[in-house]
Amino acid sequence: MDKGYMGKVLFVDLTTQEITEEPVPDDVYRRFLSGVGLAAYLLYRRIPAGADPLGPDNIIGFVSGLLTGTSTLFTGRWMAVGKSPLTGTWGDANCGGTFSPAIKKCGYDGIFFSGASPNPVYLYIDNRGPKLRDASELWGMDAIETENTLIRKLGSKRIKTACIGPAGENMSLISGISNDKGRMAARSGLGAVMGSKKLKAVVLNGTGKIKAYNRKEIKRLRLTALAYVRVQPKLKFGVLNAYLGGFMRKIPYQMFMDGIIYQTMLKKWGTISVNQFGVEMGDTPVKNWKGTNEDFNLKKSKNINPDRITKFEIKKYFCYSCPLGCGGICSMKHEKYKTTHKPEYETVLALSGLLMNEDIDSIFYLNEILNRAGMDTISAGHTVAFAFECYEQGIITKKDTDGLELTWGNTDAVLQLVEKMIRREGIGDLLADGVKVAAKKLGKGSERYAMHSGGQELAMHDGRNDPGYALHYNVEPTPGRHTMGSQIYYDMFQLWKKIDSLPRVKFFITKDSKYVADEEKAIKAAACSKFMNFANGIGLCLFGAFLGVHRLPVFEWVNAANAWDKTPEEYMEIGAAIQTLKQQFNVKHGIDPKKIKANERTVGRPIMLKGANKGRSLDIEKMTSDYWKLFDWDADTGKPVEETIKKLGIEE
Ligand code: SF4
Repeated sequence: MDKGYMGKVLFVDLTTQEITEEPVPDDVYRRFLSGVGLAAYLLYRRIPAGADPLGPDNIIGFVSGLLTGTSTLFTGRWMAVGKSPLTGTWGDANCGGTFSPAIKKCGYDGIFFSGASPNPVYLYIDNRGPKLRDASELWGMDAIETENTLIRKLGSKRIKTACIGPAGENMSLISGISNDKGRMAARSGLGAVMGSKKLKAVVLNGTGKIKAYNRKEIKRLRLTALAYVRVQPKLKFGVLNAYLGGFMRKIPYQMFMDGIIYQTMLKKWGTISVNQFGVEMGDTPVKNWKGTNEDFNLKKSKNINPDRITKFEIKKYFCYSCPLGCGGICSMKHEKYKTTHKPEYETVLALSGLLMNEDIDSIFYLNEILNRAGMDTISAGHTVAFAFECYEQGIITKKDTDGLELTWGNTDAVLQLVEKMIRREGIGDLLADGVKVAAKKLGKGSERYAMHSGGQELAMHDGRNDPGYALHYNVEPTPGRHTMGSQIYYDMFQLWKKIDSLPRVKFFITKDSKYVADEEKAIKAAACSKFMNFANGIGLCLFGAFLGVHRLPVFEWVNAANAWDKTPEEYMEIGAAIQTLKQQFNVKHGIDPKKIKANERTVGRPIMLKGANKGRSLDIEKMTSDYWKLFDWDADTGKPVEETIKKLGIEE
């Protein structure tokens, strides 16, 4: 019987150069899906306790989604997985583009690498099978050059590549993995793991068939869902989004957010639609999280108005199986680089408001060089912001910076600092491993300016505006993660429409009520985590999920693709099992969940005295323990208890 999964994975030992295909029993997919679930199942067992993330015992994997290639929508995401060198915890990084179906077309649900090669290599797979090849001539090239060279050398435009640039080669702990010429699986520092193994690239050229049990039913469901994606009112001026953000800041109520509204904005502008909106509303951290919307006001943020960015958009960019296309290719003014992927909201704001940088050309340039280097733009922006604040506090001086004046809004200093970080040159070497490592080396109380959770730089969403972000920064087994849940995500997923036991949301709530830690909010947060583990198991894009489960029939698609008849509740239980496996992975590797704490600025300590988030603070300790309880983990320690492990059937 046809299934949505391929039923096998590939293991490559880079030390011995041995390549082994392994079948995966059907039961594993039923219990953990594919993608992140399959990876957690395999790596929890196989990475030995205490393994050095940059040593040969760590395993890095590239996994596709259970629904990728089954004619379902928004299901073309892949994930890099392994033990994170940045946090020492479970690490994963999610990316779109076209790499995910290529994994399955080679016949696998995942490709995993252990050991370390003495010389640079890449793995090439075509219909004849997998082979390790010499990558000496690619070593030193940036990610886009690498991809172009491989296309030329192999004489095929069909190949799909995931590779590292110089940041990964230099084992920068904030390096990611690039595919589709500059899209990045950026988080968790997994580019450094590839670098440590001298694995430059994974190059896929298979043409195998991806199957599914009931394509007719998948198609029927797809056509209904497509009708919602096609909803598109005329949206005219990007600056109106900023005024809407300002309006929402001023009213004492929070309105229910239907994701279909955000989807229309994504279609028109992409994630940058909320650039000024986020600042005005208080969602976007400013000036290393100590500033406010008043500091980066409408005048200062005018250059990041979405219209000013999309006027450079030459064409829209769609990931595989995506009917929406929030991406784009933009032209840019630079003598060497003529185009770049449209910078994302996270990138733009981490390199603008966080640093008080108003120069949009610099953001295009930084986006391109960071993508080419394979360095996480969120982490790079935060690390520069950290350096700026240390400079302001006198912790570092001109002597340490080779004469650079690290003052807020100094575009030239931002450019030079990022270039130094990519080259690990001078102060760039200190900063190339992110804020936690830099603060540890610097000392002098600099840790208080390091905006991270468990080592991972935070995303551009402020917990003082949406406490859900603050909670997930603290409780996710991949710390500092912004894509697993928030209060607004819960609104948009609309899970209660399929799962009766989950709380419904009201159309209006008072803003003050958002900040009270109670059981209902913990239930919603836990539901988000469970659902996102499910989503990351099937390869679903978060923005597709924002349409809501009543419009995007994700549970039904998984049943149709695999001839299963699971209920949405059962899929949420699978999500809980994956979350517990990842938490248990951390416990196995000596991580104390209590010690993972996002910088306290995220929860209003100290309290902001002005701006959108004035006077707000959160009882993060209660929120955390309420969340842990809902997974049946120890409410005091955050460790999964034996009974839970048994109940979920993951005791092996
Ligand atoms: S919505 Fe955007 S990120 Fe998501 S799959 Fe489509 S193009 Fe890719």
